[in-house]
Amino acid sequence: MSTKSTGTTGIHHVTAIAGNPQRNVDFYAGVLGLRMVKKTVNFDDPETYHLYYGDDGGNPGTIMTFFPWGDARRGRIGAGQLVTTSFSIPADSLGYWTERFVEAGIRFEKPRGRFGDTVLTFSDPDGLRVELVAAQDTREGTADGTTPAGDSVRGFHHVTLAVEDAELTAKLMTETLGFRQTDEAEGRTRFAAGDGGAGDLVDVSGAAGFPRGAMGVGAVHHVAFRVPDDEAQLAVREEVAALGYDVTPVLDRNYFRSIYFREPGGVLFEIATDPPGFAVDEPLDELGTHLKLPPWLETRRGRLEEVLSPLHIPTARADATGGDE
Ligand code: ZN
Repeated sequence: MSTKSTGTTGIHHVTAIAGNPQRNVDFYAGVLGLRMVKKTVNFDDPETYHLYYGDDGGNPGTIMTFFPWGDARRGRIGAGQLVTTSFSIPADSLGYWTERFVEAGIRFEKPRGRFGDTVLTFSDPDGLRVELVAAQDTREGTADGTTPAGDSVRGFHHVTLAVEDAELTAKLMTETLGFRQTDEAEGRTRFAAGDGGAGDLVDVSGAAGFPRGAMGVGAVHHVAFRVPDDEAQLAVREEVAALGYDVTPVLDRNYFRSIYFREPGGVLFEIATDPPGFAVDEPLDELGTHLKLPPWLETRRGRLEEVLSPLHIPTARADATGGDE
C-alpha cells in the first residue's frame, strides 16, 4: 500500500501570459532585476518563447515564467485565478524600490501592511498584478543583475488565489498538498508549507460573486508547487487522483517533471520536482544566455532561430547580451 504523501514544500514557479517578449524581458530582467535563467520555447507551441526568470541559482521558489503571446487577446484578472504574484525584497529595501519605480515611471499603490510586512503593489506592462513584500528573507537573490545585490529580489514571497469557495481550496491545500493555515485577516487566509518562510506561502481570498477571470495576456496561467523528488510527486498524484481530480500523467518539462490538475476554485495547479533544475543543459554561470531546446526540437533549431525575435537581456553580466545579436 502507498504511504500518505507529505505534500508539497512551497512554491516552485508561477507561469503567466505576456504580450511582447522584449517588453517582458525589459521589465522582469531590467526593472525588477531578476536573472533570466532559461530562454527556451513553448514546448507545445515552439515558434513562441518560454522565458524563465529567477535568482542566480535558478532555485525553485524564485522562478517566474512567461509565454509571450504577442498580440493575442488580453486576459482578465478575476475569480478562479492566481490574481497577484508577490516577490520578496529585504526588509530595509523598500525605499530603494520606491525610488527605482519613480525613476522608471512605474506607478505603484501606497505601501500598506499585510501580516506584519510592508507591501508595494503595481502592474507589469501587460497588466499582471505584482507586488514587492519587504520581509525577512535569508535567500541571496541576484548578485549581478541590474539592482544592487543587497536590494535584489529574493524570490517569491507569496501568491494570492481568488476563489469562489475558499473552504474547498483550503481543504485541498491543508489535507493533501502539505500546507497549514498560519494567518487570517480581511478576507485573506494565509497558508504555509515546508519551512513556512518567504516562497512557501499562499494566500487564499474568497471571491464569491466576483466576475471570473479569463486567460490571456496579463493573466497568470498556473502556479506550480514543489516536491523534492519523483517519489513525492507520485504520492501526491495518487492522492489527488483518489479524490477524483482529473490529473495528468507525469510530463517531462526538461528542467523538472510535472503533473497538473485544476483545484476546486478553478486555478490550474502544477506539482513540479526540484530536480534536475536549470543547469541540466547549460552551465550555471551561463543560464539564460543561449536559446535552449529540448532534444526533440533540436532538429528544428534553424527554423526556430529564424522566427523567434532576438532578445536583448539587460544585465550587469558582460557575457549575457544574447549571443544572437
Ligand atoms: Zn509550470
